[in-house]
Amino acid sequence: MSDFPCYRGRFAPSPTGPLHLGSLVAALGSWLLARHAHGEWRVRMEDLDPPREVAGAAVQQLATLDAFGLHPDGAVEWQSRRSALYQNALDRLLAEGKAFACHCSRSDLAAGDGVHHHCTGKTQRPNPAIRLRVPPGATISFEDGLQGGIAQDVWREVGDFVLKRADGLWAYQLAVVVDDAAQGMTDIVRGADLLDSTPRQILLQQALGLPTPRYLHLPLIVDAHGQKLSKSSEAPAIDANDPLPALHAAWLVLGQAFPAVAASFDAASFLASAKRAFLPDRLPRVTSLSLAALHNAADANAV
Ligand code: GLU
Repeated sequence: MSDFPCYRGRFAPSPTGPLHLGSLVAALGSWLLARHAHGEWRVRMEDLDPPREVAGAAVQQLATLDAFGLHPDGAVEWQSRRSALYQNALDRLLAEGKAFACHCSRSDLAAGDGVHHHCTGKTQRPNPAIRLRVPPGATISFEDGLQGGIAQDVWREVGDFVLKRADGLWAYQLAVVVDDAAQGMTDIVRGADLLDSTPRQILLQQALGLPTPRYLHLPLIVDAHGQKLSKSSEAPAIDANDPLPALHAAWLVLGQAFPAVAASFDAASFLASAKRAFLPDRLPRVTSLSLAALHNAADANAV
């Protein structure tokens, strides 16, 4: 297999807890789109933030994917083992003057509403954060595979963003850009909560001279209060011992027709039918879906 296939996608969970229905939508959606394109599907564990990690969550997430029949093409990559690549990218940006050490304190930043444009730090910090220098007027536009045209004035809305944190941890934005390129990803399919990170990632790709993959952001599932499911107690459990209910629910969130998978009796038979019946045009072109809408869809599809 060549290093750069026509389609290579991935699911990239952070090990901050068990997988929930929202993560399963991203996993199944990215898997279906990869299979539909006769491409590869990989898994990358984004274990870069030990304080936010839950012990055992990474292993549990991988076991859940396995139980759901979502087997990656190739070995799972672990971001915690890839620091040398991130350091290399950071060194290049620093050497080219595209990144800088920031000595601002929290209160300096708060004065600019959290958007960083100029360092106003009065004292040199021993461990400064490293930020990307975002030039005024840096506006990024891209065509999302589901959400359509997206544009963001990164200078005005985000400002100079962090690549390496003051506590020494790598920022998600740098790691994801380095890894997506190093691992030859052509298609990024993930939840719409990351839609507003994408312009930053494209800007960073441009600064590093890396290709920009295609992006497609799937709807998030929200509860009655509009809260992301992961943060909600209403999140339906994902049971590795009984994958079908969650797979059926994720299939409905992805806007697909229930009868096509109604006869499935286990994860493998579900995935085989789902792969055949999946229609990308049915994916909902919205950034969020409520649990209530999902229940209605399930009732309408009840057989
Ligand atoms: N690790 C991120 C998350 O779990 C996803 C990153 C990505 O897909 O780009 O929210």
